[in-house]
Amino acid sequence: MVHETGYYDLLGVSPDASAEELKKAYRKLALKYHPDKNPNEGEKFKHISQAYEVLSDPKKRDLYDQGGEQAIKEGGMGGGSSPMDIFNMFFGGGGRMQRERKGKNVVHQLSVTLEEMYNGTTRKLGLQKNVICEKCEGYGGKKGALEKCSTCKGRGVQVKVQQIGPGMIQQIQSMCSDCQGQGEKFSSKDRCKNCNGHKVERKKKILEVHIDKGMKDGQKITFNGEGDQEPGLEPGDVVIVLDQKDHPVFQRQNNDLTTKMNIKLVEALCGFRKTIETLDNRTLVISTQPGEVIKNGDYKCVENEGMPLHRDPYDKGQLIIHFQVEFPEKHWLPEHLMYQLERLLPPREDVMVTDDMEEVDLCEVDLQSQQKNYSGEAYEEDDDSPRGGVQCQTQ
Ligand SMILES: [Zn+2]
Ligand SMILES: [Zn+2]
Repeated sequence: MVHETGYYDLLGVSPDASAEELKKAYRKLALKYHPDKNPNEGEKFKHISQAYEVLSDPKKRDLYDQGGEQAIKEGGMGGGSSPMDIFNMFFGGGGRMQRERKGKNVVHQLSVTLEEMYNGTTRKLGLQKNVICEKCEGYGGKKGALEKCSTCKGRGVQVKVQQIGPGMIQQIQSMCSDCQGQGEKFSSKDRCKNCNGHKVERKKKILEVHIDKGMKDGQKITFNGEGDQEPGLEPGDVVIVLDQKDHPVFQRQNNDLTTKMNIKLVEALCGFRKTIETLDNRTLVISTQPGEVIKNGDYKCVENEGMPLHRDPYDKGQLIIHFQVEFPEKHWLPEHLMYQLERLLPPREDVMVTDDMEEVDLCEVDLQSQQKNYSGEAYEEDDDSPRGGVQCQTQ
């Protein structure tokens, strides 16, 4: 059986992505393809939303992993919510009831570095938005000069009658284009020259976004009532969603920071002193005592040197150091000195070779072809079967 990965591909994640990774992928794509930003990509927006709806629900994700899109359809679990509902739920658009008298929220993503989240900063963001026209105060023209639209006779709709067959007519109703469905309009001489009767004008607004120490990836900063203005409607909010950039040295997990450190074999065995540059440009010195052994892959941590806690920035998480021990290259030590080294190391365990044993060659593994075999099999076999065997390549 071949597993379908289409939904994962749509979101650009691997099939073993964590819930966190799925969220992040959806967040980025949904904002990019939202009809407000990208009106021509409505289909793409819909597909991303579908994929996220299924994969974000553990039950549906299981079903999808087993039987693909077909299983979702047959299980009657697809297409429950509209793409907009999913989007609003994700970005916290609020209940629909209270929204009716409120304009819609505008969501923007703001890319921030780990340094900015560590130290805190203020970013200025220039946004274009609709504001009530200053000249006519949102009226659209001269006060009292509004007249009934002659095109639609004040009804706001136009009705077209079409003959579609012998003795058959069809009525098509559409919004009156002359008065935009208002039923009333200004004659051209009374219309506000500033907004051309639209009641609103486009203006640039600078928002100051305060990024506090310890804010997280995906955190929302809401500017109440800074959305587009419209007469008779409470303006919606501008919601800024923080998007944390990857850092070359530190990986963040909640309040902890992890960094990799390479140490030499001699340092692993005989102790070391090393430095780490922090995100606020301090230099930390870490050391181990002679006799303390660091093994390859070991983790150690420094308390209170991780990310500051949001709203409690004097407290910090852990700084976790992941050690990698660099072994010396082949033949680094002349063979006649080898016995001296061996004398110093913990003794080896010798194996008695008997006649019923088989002596075989130990050779290098060709990692590339092994990986190819592995991924080829991973999709076709059950997950609990043993992974593709290691293959030896004679050199
Ligand atoms: Zn009209
Ligand atoms: Zn105006």
